[in-house]
Amino acid sequence: MVTTPNKEKLRIKMKNKRTRLTRQRKIILETLQQTGSHPTADWIYQKVREQLPHISLGTVYRNLNILKKEGKILELKYGKDVSRFDALTKDHYHFTCEKCHRIYDLDVALNKDLEQMVAQKTGFKITSHQAEFYGICSDCQKSDSSN
Ligand code: ZN
Ligand code: MN
Repeated sequence: MVTTPNKEKLRIKMKNKRTRLTRQRKIILETLQQTGSHPTADWIYQKVREQLPHISLGTVYRNLNILKKEGKILELKYGKDVSRFDALTKDHYHFTCEKCHRIYDLDVALNKDLEQMVAQKTGFKITSHQAEFYGICSDCQKSDSSN
């Protein structure tokens, strides 16, 4: 009978673990890429659980952090307790509708003058900036006027 040496067993075990981790991360990334809704980690967790029923919220958080460090996703904080995540990694502004709470991507150029202004005023070295605009989206304005 052929026995697998212990070293080989360990190698296979490690490989399986790595493959599982990569697969988890891939599913998390795909879930985020399939939505334009800028979801929270909790929303991603609920969605990913449909494919990986045994995954934990902690694992989802860990993978989101790795994906963020790899530059594959953005974390949107805006000074709030709950972060939202975005698979669109090019720098862009957001608009949050105060009525339906949808977050829209804005296709407007980033204001780099703003960074220079802050740098000059403070002496800080600015690496990036994010901005979130608030108001009522066009869908909600339409439904407002039909009432
Ligand atoms: Zn709206
Ligand atoms: Mn976005």
